Order: sequence, then structure tokens, then C-alpha cells
Amino acid sequence: MDLKQTKTYIIGNWKMNPASEADAEEMFDEVEDEVYKIDGEKVEVVICPPFVFLSNFDSDGKVKLGAQDIFWENSGAFTGEISADMLRRLGVRYAIIGHSERRQYLGETDEMVNLKIKAALAGKVRPILCIGETLEERQRGDTGEIIVNQVEKALAEIPGKDLIGNLIVAYEPIWAIGSGAVPSPDEVMSIGLLIKKVLAKIYGNRDVAESVPILYGGSVNRDNSFDLVDKTGLRGLLIGGASLKPREFVEIVRRFAK
Ligand code: PEP
Repeated sequence: MDLKQTKTYIIGNWKMNPASEADAEEMFDEVEDEVYKIDGEKVEVVICPPFVFLSNFDSDGKVKLGAQDIFWENSGAFTGEISADMLRRLGVRYAIIGHSERRQYLGETDEMVNLKIKAALAGKVRPILCIGETLEERQRGDTGEIIVNQVEKALAEIPGKDLIGNLIVAYEPIWAIGSGAVPSPDEVMSIGLLIKKVLAKIYGNRDVAESVPILYGGSVNRDNSFDLVDKTGLRGLLIGGASLKPREFVEIVRRFAK
């Protein structure tokens, strides 16, 4: 585990793509072949495919596996849900939690996000907590308040020691997802600092704040990727659309492996 948090995290969220197993395998293999050629000490590459493809991929290889969601119970009468236990048995090390598409289309609340983070931690799957404001919230000048509120609610009653070496936070402004619009590196940097400040306030010291990698997500591509990390002090990227183009995704990975 990257306890010193020295790596840059490049995480691909394939969302509900591709349609076929054959295409999924081709995409994964293309990424994996290239990732084997780079310095793995510098970059942690994670692919989060749809659940149904997770068992098609080698979970012990250089590309780590992530899920796009997780449920808060471990087993039982919860139709359609997938537990941390099931994921870990498949070799899945990460789970995206609280993605804005789930909040928006599936009614996922901060309370559900909190339960899911607890379940992931208990099941030894690293949670990637997604937070971010809508365009209206940004235009009203409420971004800071939204971010603080989402972090506080997501982490309610979770001891700081459980988060160290485990939690990852992805700042994903909703208006930037899939839109081609991207905040400036200065804006991203100030949100990164705000998240660290909230973590320090919740936990009473800087241990958690310093250990938690904060990533940026939203319309990342090969041209803007480097600055969104290099000029912001963030620790990596959560990538949607561009992760579906293995060549572009790998190009982004390579920039951080030098
Ligand atoms: C996402 O939905 O997590 C995301 C970052 O998407 P995109 O890169 O396509 O904006």
C-alpha cells in the first residue's frame, strides 16, 4: 500500500461502457500492456469497469481494479447490490463512492455515501469519495460550503485512523463532468486546500489531511491532464470519457511516470 502517498493516482471510470466483454478485454489489455512498460513506483493506475467485467481482468497485475459503487451491507436481501466482501474476493481494491451521476439519477444521499464508505473500509476496499458542486451552486458562490458539507457528512463517525492509507477524495465539479469545461488550476488548488482544511478540522490534526490523496475529475484529457496535477498540488485524476480511449488514457499515465 502507498502509505507515504508518493504515487500519482490515475483512475479510469468507464461508467456503463463498453457494451461487450470482447471490447472491455481489448481496452483493458491495451492499457495493461503499456502500464507494464512504465515505472510503477510513480503511478497507481486503476480501472473501474462495470461490475460484470471485473472478473475478466487480472486483479494481480499492474493495473488495479476498482468498482463504480459498493453496497453498505455484506449480504442478504438487497436485490441488485454488490458488497465489499464480494468485490474484495474478486481482487477489487478500490470503489468509487458517491459519484454525482449516482447522486443525481439514483437518489444517492450523503447518508448513503457515509454508509458505503464505512462498508468499504470494513471490507478492505479503498473508497474513492466523489464530491463536487453543480453549476448553479458555483454561480451562487456556494462551492466551498457544498464541499465542506459533503466531506463532513460522508465521513461522519468514521475514525481518522481508519482513513489513513485508505481514503481517496476526488473533487469532481458536476458542471465539468463530460462537458469539456474545466476549472482553472488555481480554483482546483484552492478546493484541494479546502478539503485538507476540513479533514484537519474534523480530525483535530493534520495526519488524515496529509495522508488522503485528493484527485481532480471532470473533462480531463491528454492536453489538460498534466497541469491539473502539476499546478494544483493534487495527487491524481479521475477520468471518465478519456479512459474509454486506451491510447489517450495511457498517454496521460505516461506523463506522470517520468
Ligand atoms: C467522471 O464522471 O468521473 C468523469 C471525470 O467524467 P469525464 O472525465 O468524462 O468528465
